[in-house]
Amino acid sequence: MPAIKIQTELPGPKSKAWLDRRAAAIPRGVYAGTPIFIRSAQGATFEDLDGNRFLDLCGGIGCINVGHRNPRVVAAIRRQLDAFLHMCFQVTGYESYVELAEKLNQLTPGNFPKKTFFVNSGAEAVENAVKIARSHTGRSAVICFEDAFHGRTMMGLSLTSKTHPYKAGFGPFASDIYRIPYGVTSRARNRCGATLDAAYFERMLEDVFRQVVAAEQVAAVIIEPVLGEGGFVVPPAGFLEVLDTTCKRHGIVFVADEVQTGFGRTGTLFASAQFAIEPDLILTAKSLGGGLPLAAITGRAEIMDAPGPGGLGGTFGGNPASCAAALGVIEEFADGHLLRRANELGEQFRQRALAWQKEYDFIADVRGLGAMQAIEFSQPGNPSEPNAAAAKKIIQYSLKHGVLLLGAGTHDNVIRILMPLVISDEEFSEAMDVIENGLAYAAAELGLLASSAK
Ligand code: PLP
Repeated sequence: MPAIKIQTELPGPKSKAWLDRRAAAIPRGVYAGTPIFIRSAQGATFEDLDGNRFLDLCGGIGCINVGHRNPRVVAAIRRQLDAFLHMCFQVTGYESYVELAEKLNQLTPGNFPKKTFFVNSGAEAVENAVKIARSHTGRSAVICFEDAFHGRTMMGLSLTSKTHPYKAGFGPFASDIYRIPYGVTSRARNRCGATLDAAYFERMLEDVFRQVVAAEQVAAVIIEPVLGEGGFVVPPAGFLEVLDTTCKRHGIVFVADEVQTGFGRTGTLFASAQFAIEPDLILTAKSLGGGLPLAAITGRAEIMDAPGPGGLGGTFGGNPASCAAALGVIEEFADGHLLRRANELGEQFRQRALAWQKEYDFIADVRGLGAMQAIEFSQPGNPSEPNAAAAKKIIQYSLKHGVLLLGAGTHDNVIRILMPLVISDEEFSEAMDVIENGLAYAAAELGLLASSAK
C-alpha cells in the first residue's frame, strides 16, 4: 500500500481555515513553507487535518533523524513527565543533564577531556560558542564563511551569510566578524574543485591574516563541516584539515557548527569524524532532542571552563524532558543501524539523482555526505548560473503529490533531503518517484529540454 494519500486539493478545507487564522494572528515574517496544518506524525510520514498523508523528507528541518515519535524517545519523555518538568539546572541539579553531558563528552570527536552544557536552540549554541572562545582567548574577532547559516539571533545573524530574507533590515550586526570563502566561492564551485590543494588553502588563510584580520586577534573560526542552509556543500578536500591546523598554530578556537550535520545525518554521529580534524568546540541541536528543543556546546574542558560561574546558562537550557529525549536518541543510535541506514539512503538517493543528471542538463550538481544529500539546479548546460525556478517547481510539485521537500542555497537553487532515517525502502523509493516526476514536470513547465532530447 502506498504511504502517500492525497484526497483533497492542497490546502484542504481544514488546513485552509487555519491558514487564514494564521495569517491574521501570526506575523508574515514567520514564513509558511507549506499551506498545510498537521494532525499527526509517525516514523517518516505525517497526516494533515484533512486526512492527506505525506512522506516527510524534511524532518522539521533536520530534527527528526530517529523518526517522528520514536518509541524510545516518547517513552523517555513520558517517564520524565511523571517525575518533574522544570527546576532550572542552575538551581537544582538532575541526573539526566549530567548523564547527557557525559555521553556527549565521550561521543564527540577528539580524544581529550571535554565538558558540555545545554541551551535551547542552535542559535543559542552559536552565541555561547563565541562567548566561550572570547573568554578563553581574550580576543574578539570571529571568522565565518560565505554561504554559512548560524541562526537568527543577533550573533547568529552576524555570522550568517545570506542577506534576504535573513539579514536585510535587521542590522547593525556584531562587529569584528570576518567572512571568507568556504574553500572556494560558490560560483566557482562547480568548475574548479580539482585544482585546490592544501598549499592553496594555506596561502589563502595566510592572505586572510595579512589582508583581512590579524591572526592574533581572532578568537574563533566557526564552520559547518557541510554547509546546511547554504546548499549541502561538502568543503573541498583538505580545506577543513588546513583550517584546523591553522587554528591550532595561532591559538584560535576551532568551532564546528554541527547543528544540521550532527546526530547521524551524514552517516556518522558527527560529520567532523569524517575529516582529520579535532574541533575545539562542537555545537549540536536539531536531531539531538529527537523533536524537543535542545542544543549542546561540547568542547575542550580548559576552553569550556574559561567563563566564570554564572557566565553561562539560561532558564530552560537542558530542560529535563529534552535531556530525557536526547538520552533516548543516543540509545537509538548506539547499535549503529541508523548510521548504516543514513549511508544506504544517501547512496540510494545519489544513484537516482546521478541518473537524473544524465537526463537533464539543468542539474548542475548532486552532492552531499551520508544522508545529507542535495541536487543543485542551474540554467541548462551552464552549471554556474543558478536556476531557482526549477527547484521551486519541483518542491511545489512534490508537495502536491505527497512529498515534503525543502529548498536550500544562497541562490535558492538547491533541493535537499532531511528525511527521518527510519524511512523504509518502499517509502523512500515512492518519494524518489515523485521527485522524478517533478523533474519532468519542471522541465516541461520551464522549457528546460532534457539533454537527450536535444
Ligand atoms: N547552525 C546551523 C548549521 C543551522 O542549520 C541552524 C538552523 O538551521 C542553526 C545554527 C540555528 O539553529 P536554530 O534554528 O535551532 O536556532
